[in-house]
Amino acid sequence: MINTTLGQIADICGGQLQGSSDTCLEGVSINSRQLVQGGLFVPIVGEKFDGHEFVTSALTEGALGSLWQEDHGTPPSGNIVIVKDTLQALQQLAEDYVQQTGVKVVGITGSNGKTTTKDIVYALLAEAYRVHKTEGNFNNHIGLPLTILAMPKDTEILILEMGMSGRGEIELLSNIAHPETTIITNIGESHLQQLGSREEIACAKLEIVSGLRADGLLVYLGDEPLLKQILSESAFEQKEMNKITFGLDHTNNVYPTGVMFQGKSTVFTTNSESDEAWTLPLLGMHNVINALAAITVAQHYQVTPEQIRQGLSKLQLTGMRIEIIQGRNGITLLNDAYNASPTSMKAAIDVLGNLKGYQRKIAVLGDMLELGEDEAIYHQEVGQYIDGQADILFTYGQLGQQIAEGAAKVLEASQIHSYLSKQELINDLLQIAQDKDAILFKASRGMKLEEVVQALMPDS
Ligand code: ATP
Ligand code: MG
Repeated sequence: MINTTLGQIADICGGQLQGSSDTCLEGVSINSRQLVQGGLFVPIVGEKFDGHEFVTSALTEGALGSLWQEDHGTPPSGNIVIVKDTLQALQQLAEDYVQQTGVKVVGITGSNGKTTTKDIVYALLAEAYRVHKTEGNFNNHIGLPLTILAMPKDTEILILEMGMSGRGEIELLSNIAHPETTIITNIGESHLQQLGSREEIACAKLEIVSGLRADGLLVYLGDEPLLKQILSESAFEQKEMNKITFGLDHTNNVYPTGVMFQGKSTVFTTNSESDEAWTLPLLGMHNVINALAAITVAQHYQVTPEQIRQGLSKLQLTGMRIEIIQGRNGITLLNDAYNASPTSMKAAIDVLGNLKGYQRKIAVLGDMLELGEDEAIYHQEVGQYIDGQADILFTYGQLGQQIAEGAAKVLEASQIHSYLSKQELINDLLQIAQDKDAILFKASRGMKLEEVVQALMPDS
């Protein structure tokens, strides 16, 4: 955790000190209900709340100092650093802490698979280094600096997820963290509405190299032609960095040579000389791809094959990413309700399709949000993609009806059920699902499909 004096904080943020310069603070919080005792309180000005309302209580309840944004009038008495912009000051503190500690940073972005890849990279590097990582999905302009500032001082490698919803956001994050190694997992269609085209999305993800340290490494999905194309343009050509591509295509530097799904695990080999077979306690080709990126980074940091094997076996993923759960009445639930985009929907449908030993396979799919003007087409494509991979389809939501429309080309009408009411969906699913069925759940976060998963749990 950051451990510094109020005077140093004022220096780093270019702020004006009020109070005792020598006061030593450890840790940072932005929420007065989750105060770090003895730490710094940073009031963030949000759309709904303004942290400045809580500065006085934060100082009486255990914070040893607070920032204060200059356009908010006179600060309360106590240990205060007055700054132009508290959010920017938080980011400056984080950038300074990275530099002070000299920690190596691995930055991970992409449309899908960031959190999964981050968790795998962490598991592998943890076998050989003192590591710290983004908790959950804390991947934005506030979560990333907070992750950095919470890092133990002796951390050797920091693994950061970098998310975005528009241009310039990843650039900001990269310039706070100055990664030594970066990963781009893929380019999908998430945030198409805001960004307009897949090219723009690819450019936004490539911003991750803007803060890359000299001679840094970019590990990226070579299967995505847009990344290769944009990287060959002059601005990138001139940047000194090492590149490694991964993906399914055999033109990549790293690719799988054999993949087998075994129960809840996937066993795969790669084109590396060692002929090593890796066991990943996750399902799906998309997770093999994520693991390839992670193994590449681990090997870059000289993690041994034995350590990689150990790390993979201990892997703990952040929840609702294809969690396999035993539901009621012998039904198996594949909870992938965390979020959805066309790419990740298809990846999850592949997982369902590849499952063995089930009576019937049922897909419960809901709206994918924020896809822009072609949203109907994307939903229809997903419906058609079900071909041969599920026996029954349940759709939920307005756009879900377009999934049903696409599926009508590959399934009988009796195999397709569409709902606008979640309760009706639950009622019918409870009627239809039986012993030895496997059911996949997937939709955008806003659809809260986990409520349907919950209704099929044994104790509900
Ligand atoms: P977010 O933008 O919400 O932070 P994320 O990029 O962190 O998402 P994950 O949380 O790792 O992504 O995975 C979300 C879902 O995306 C998974 O449940 C899975 O369905 C899908 N997914 C994960 N990795 C990939 C991949 N490499 N390619 C396609 N889909 C993937
Ligand atoms: Mg994430």
